[in-house]
Amino acid sequence: MNFDLTNILRPHILTLTPYASARDEYEGTEGIFMDANENPIGSITPQPYNRYPDPYQVAIKQKLAAIRQVRTDQIFLGNGSDEAIDLLIRATCTPRQDEIILLPPTYGMYEVSASINDVPLVKVPLTPDFGVDLPAVLEAVEAHPRAKLIFFCSPNNPTGNRLRDEDILRVLDVFPGLVVVDEAYIDFAQGPGFVSRLEAYPNLVVLQTFSKAWGLASLRLGMAFASPALIAILNKLKPPYNINGVTQQLVGESLDNLTSVEKMVGEILRQRDGLRGQLAELPVVRHVYPSDANFLLVKVQDARAVYHFLVNRKIIVRDRSNVKLCEGCLRISVGTAEENRQLLAALREFGAASA
Ligand SMILES: *Cc1c(COP(=O)(O)O)cnc(C)c1O
Repeated sequence: MNFDLTNILRPHILTLTPYASARDEYEGTEGIFMDANENPIGSITPQPYNRYPDPYQVAIKQKLAAIRQVRTDQIFLGNGSDEAIDLLIRATCTPRQDEIILLPPTYGMYEVSASINDVPLVKVPLTPDFGVDLPAVLEAVEAHPRAKLIFFCSPNNPTGNRLRDEDILRVLDVFPGLVVVDEAYIDFAQGPGFVSRLEAYPNLVVLQTFSKAWGLASLRLGMAFASPALIAILNKLKPPYNINGVTQQLVGESLDNLTSVEKMVGEILRQRDGLRGQLAELPVVRHVYPSDANFLLVKVQDARAVYHFLVNRKIIVRDRSNVKLCEGCLRISVGTAEENRQLLAALREFGAASA
């Protein structure tokens, strides 16, 4: 397929003049800086935060490029993946005219962000075993020439499974818009994700995040990997200083410590598999779905009641029982060994109380 980004972007985005920050006009780090109206004396805090941070986060991108085997101009960093999702929509979808294809049940932010931007959705549900309904997706692509984006979440939230690569590749081959593959949970899954396919597919966008495997949800840092042309557009649209200096500092240091991430992921996977086995043996549990992520989708008898029973014991899980295809299901994030033990004890207690 001949992909042309200029056909996908909203016309006014092509000609937009972005804000030029003080740090855009002079890029050196040494000197007397009297260009940004900062406080020259220092900060109110013990540590100095008086200078604006790097608007393009070059230090992080250089480390990340080496780790993910891409070039720095293929990386966009956002205030969480949620910022990248919103910018992708704003860059491509004219409100009330263009459309977005979603495969529910999936991550709720795609729909929220589309609604905020007044962009209609085309929903093609997953199959009952949570796979891509490829014929239906291809049909939707055909029937909706104004669809600019399609979101695949793999591993998918809340179902936990990875989608088949072949299905996503098929859509990459035929969809004239951008194919977004959200890999927030890829570090918990087996095998490579889609970042290595960027060169082959100029219409591919891969989202990843520091919020899950890296344990940095509070710092708010999400990644989008895509063609340099699209990354340049996202950089044009973002607020100039979207990634704060503390986040840049701490994530920069974390990128030197990959082995700690691998260790945490290993421990979470061990806990997940143990929890899965133990949950499956409880009478209250009807089914535990396979997971390629750091959470389990669990079908229980009377999900609302179980949810409230757990809340009363200060154990908070996500009630997904009113989500289509997830009827009767709770989504449970894998906890520490002790947290998982307490969850299992509470569920046994529920079983005993309702028996
Ligand atoms: C948790 C999650 C994210 C992460 O969002 P951030 O804004 O980066 O914290 C992205 N996508 C999915 C599917 C998620 O579940």
